[in-house]
Amino acid sequence: MKIAVIGTGYVGLVTGTCFAESGNEVICVDIDQEKLRKLNAGIVPIYEPGLEVIFKRNIEEGRLTFTSNLAEAILASELIFLALPTPPQEDGSADLQYVLKVTEEMAGILTEDSGFKLVVNKSTVPVGTCAKVLSTFKAKSKADIEVISNPEFLREGAAVDDFMKPERVVVGCSSERAVKLMTHLYKPFLMSGNPIVFMDERSSELTKYAANSFLAMKISYMNEMALLCEKLGANVDMVRKGIGSDSRIGKRFLFPGVGYGGSCFPKDVKALSYTAKENAYDFAILNAVMSVNEKQKKVLVTKVLDFYNQDIKGKKLAVWGLAFKPNTDDIREAPSLEIISNLLDKGAEIIAFDPEAMHEYQKYHPELSIKYCDSHYDTLAGADALLIITEWNMFRTPDFARMKSLMAHPVIFDGRNVFDSSEMQESGFQYTSIGRPTIGLQA
Ligand code: NAD
Repeated sequence: MKIAVIGTGYVGLVTGTCFAESGNEVICVDIDQEKLRKLNAGIVPIYEPGLEVIFKRNIEEGRLTFTSNLAEAILASELIFLALPTPPQEDGSADLQYVLKVTEEMAGILTEDSGFKLVVNKSTVPVGTCAKVLSTFKAKSKADIEVISNPEFLREGAAVDDFMKPERVVVGCSSERAVKLMTHLYKPFLMSGNPIVFMDERSSELTKYAANSFLAMKISYMNEMALLCEKLGANVDMVRKGIGSDSRIGKRFLFPGVGYGGSCFPKDVKALSYTAKENAYDFAILNAVMSVNEKQKKVLVTKVLDFYNQDIKGKKLAVWGLAFKPNTDDIREAPSLEIISNLLDKGAEIIAFDPEAMHEYQKYHPELSIKYCDSHYDTLAGADALLIITEWNMFRTPDFARMKSLMAHPVIFDGRNVFDSSEMQESGFQYTSIGRPTIGLQA
C-alpha cells in the first residue's frame, strides 16, 4: 500500500518505518528541516531501541522516504496517517492547531480528481476530532476522503516491539471500505492472533485517553501507597508483589517512584479531565491522579532537604538519569526537570549523567547550570550524595566499593527503588528510597 505519514516524531517515524518494514511504500512528511536533513542522511534523530536497523534497511530498499513536500506525499498515497503533536494548552485541553493546519493544507491540495484518501488519525485527540477534521476538510475541498481514528499505544523505549507486535489495534471508523483497508494493513502485525478492535470514531478517540489515564492512575495509586508504607513501617516492594500476583490487578505499573512524566501521561490525563469538565462532569479520580503526581515529584527533594536540615547550599549532588523513563532520550515533562530545578534553586551543585538524554537537556534547558559527565561513575567524584531519578539498566548493578571510594559521603536518595535495601546496608551506604525502609539515614 502507498502510505503518507504526516509528522515524523516518535510516533510518526516508528509508524512509517514499521509500515515500510511490512512491505508498504511510505513517505514521511515533516516541517522540521534539521530533522529532515538527518533522516535523509540516514540518521535516526531520536533514541529508540531497534529502530535504526529497520530504518536503514527500508531506506536502502527504497520503501521509506522523507520530505517536506506535503502535496507530493499525499497525492501519491491512498492512506494518510496523521502523527502530529497535540500538546496541552493552558487550560489542559489538547491543542489541535497542528492537526487542523495540516487538514486545511490537505484540503488545498486534494481535489475530486485525486482519488479516494483514507485519513487515519494516530495523534491523541479529544472525542469528536475525526468529525472536526472531516468538516474542516469538506469546507474547502470536494475530494473523496474518509477520516478515521487509529490511536497509537506504543511505549517510547519499546516502540518498535510494541508497533510490530501490538497487544491490540484500535480503529474507529464507520465504513466497510475503511475496515477492509485497515484489516489488510495491520494483518502482518497481528499474526499471533491479537485483535484489531473496530468501533465508532468517538469511542476509539476516548479509548486512548482511557488507557493512558488508567495507567497514570495505577502509578499514582502506588505512589500514595508507598508514602503510606513509609509512615507505617511497611515495605512497598512486598505490598507490590502481594497485590501484583492477583491477575485482576496485574504486575505492571505498580512501581512507585518520583512521579510519572513524558509527553503522554501528563497531557492526556489533563485533557481527559478537561473533556469531562467541558461536559459538566467532575471526573474526581483523574483530578486526584494529577494532584498526587504533582506531590510525588517533590518527594525526593523533601527527603534531601530533610536530611540536610533544609540547607543544601554548596552540596555536591550527583544525579543518575534525566530522561522521563529508561530507554528513551525524551525529557518532555520528565520529573528530573522539577527535581533538579528545585535543588539548584536551593543552592546545590548538580553533576549529572544520562546515557541518552543529556543532549536534549543541554538543547532545551541551557538555563539549568548542570555539570554533565561522560559516565555515571564520573558524577560521583567528591559528591555529597547520589540521586537516582531514571532507572536505566546500567545503574542497577554498579561497583558499590568504587562508588564509595569516589564519593565524599556514601549517601543515596533512590527515586526509583533501583537497589535492594539489604545490599545497601551491607555496602555501608546511607540509603533511602520510595516506600521502603531507610538505611542509616536520619531526617
Ligand atoms: P513529536 O513531537 O515527537 O512529533 C511530532 C512531529 O510532527 C514533529 O517532528 C514535528 O516537527 C512534526 N510536525 C509539526 N507540524 C507539522 C506539519 N504541519 N507538517 C508536518 N509535520 C509537522 O510527537 P509524538 O511524540 O510523535 O506524538 C505525536 C502524537 O502521537 C501526539 O498526539 C501524541 O500524544 C501521540 N502519541 C505519542 C506517543 C509517544 O510515546 N510519544 C504514544 C502514543 C501516542
